[in-house]
Amino acid sequence: MEKFFSENFKKIDFFLRIEYNVSMKTAIIGGGASGLILATALQNVNEVTVFERNERVGKKLSATGNGQGNVTNLAATKEEYFSFGNVSLAKTLISRYDDTSFAAYLESLGLLLLPDERGRVYPAGRQASAVTDALRFAYAGKTELATKITDIEKTGKVFSLTAEDGRLFVFDRVVLCCGGKAAKNFGTDGNGYALAGKLGHTQTPLYPSLVQLKTDTTHIKTLKGIRVINASLTARWQGGVHTLQGDVIFTEYGVSGDAVFRMSAFIAGKQNVTLEIDFLPPFSQEKMEETLKSKLGKFPETELLCGIVNNQVGRAIMKRAGGDIARASALVKAFPLPVTGSLGFDYAQVTKGGIPLDEVDENLQSKKVKGLYFAGEILDVDGQCGGFNLQWAYASARTVATALEEEARGQV
Ligand SMILES: Cc1cc2nc3c(=O)[nH]c(=O)nc-3n(C[C@H](O)[C@H](O)[C@H](O)COP(=O)(O)OP(=O)(O)OC[C@H]3O[C@@H](n4cnc5c(N)ncnc54)[C@H](O)[C@@H]3O)c2cc1C
Repeated sequence: MEKFFSENFKKIDFFLRIEYNVSMKTAIIGGGASGLILATALQNVNEVTVFERNERVGKKLSATGNGQGNVTNLAATKEEYFSFGNVSLAKTLISRYDDTSFAAYLESLGLLLLPDERGRVYPAGRQASAVTDALRFAYAGKTELATKITDIEKTGKVFSLTAEDGRLFVFDRVVLCCGGKAAKNFGTDGNGYALAGKLGHTQTPLYPSLVQLKTDTTHIKTLKGIRVINASLTARWQGGVHTLQGDVIFTEYGVSGDAVFRMSAFIAGKQNVTLEIDFLPPFSQEKMEETLKSKLGKFPETELLCGIVNNQVGRAIMKRAGGDIARASALVKAFPLPVTGSLGFDYAQVTKGGIPLDEVDENLQSKKVKGLYFAGEILDVDGQCGGFNLQWAYASARTVATALEEEARGQV
């Protein structure tokens, strides 16, 4: 049986090689999530070289999902994507190459996947590095490690790439998979936008997203380290409001936790934002007031919220309310915290903004320079926390792979 597969695989491989014009040389700049997926999909179609500035590929991919690799989400095709431009292009591509397609692709590389109760899909072994490994093992093409591409030019039909060490490379096609500006310790410092800029592309404003938020800390100084489980978090800004549920963690600079991470995707770039924490979504303000009144005289004033919220939170609320029961009840349901900023790109998981979608066609090929493509976070598409960004890396990489495959087929 094994022999049957290996014999037939050789035949398939042989036919692939005569069907496609493998002499077409494609450079993939960036050996991250989208670059590696694209490389595996394209290796039998074009002669592929992956350029990665780090000493190894997939450094960020191996750290995703707290090291567990939240690769996609069962709700991948729902409204979880943002763009300053026409987000429907991204959604169309994500519907074409959806979570089922991504899961099938990863399974074809030898992984088994499992979703958690929130629809977040992980490799069964819960190791993000296993995803990188599977991609590495599946890719047999060339990889230039520790090679940062610093310049790119197109002369006639070919692209010349210059590496930081002075080496020059020539290619027929280039795909920019350099990622965004978030988490520069993984190699993503925004230099990909400058490379695209050398070929005439612009970029939208860029903001850190999926990041901890800085707030006014006047009323939360004593709460550092406390986690509020299943809070309801509302953000208000001029002309907008958004509410979501999840955990909020108080920190010395403001707030963190999954609700805050997810909220940061909605408020990035917005001015004068105030967060309101509802500590007890299941109970009404009236119920709160009634309960507090019933405890008057039985509990010290500072301890009236004892048994209702975390004791330290309760004391902070009573202090902020100046002992007023109606005000304290209102604060339990909406504890306002003006946002003063975020921890910034170094701590963010993704970049909001990037190469504008109206500068690429439906295959993610540049409208300015033929033969130049984009995939992943470098484009002006960002996803919500929960596997949506790797899903975009996959969908965009597959889109480019299909386009290049069709092009190669047409050229035989
Ligand atoms: C800590 C952390 C956890 C995350 N967890 C999740 C998660 O669980 N689920 C999820 O969906 N998303 C997660 N994300 C987001 C997700 O990792 C990214 O959106 C995704 O990796 C983007 O893929 P990409 O291919 O566009 O870029 P990247 O994966 O960032 O790869 C870009 C690569 O290009 C290289 N590069 C850049 N410039 C050059 C150059 N000039 N020359 C050569 N190489 C270059 C970089 O070194 C890098 O390796 C997380 C992000 C972080 C930081």
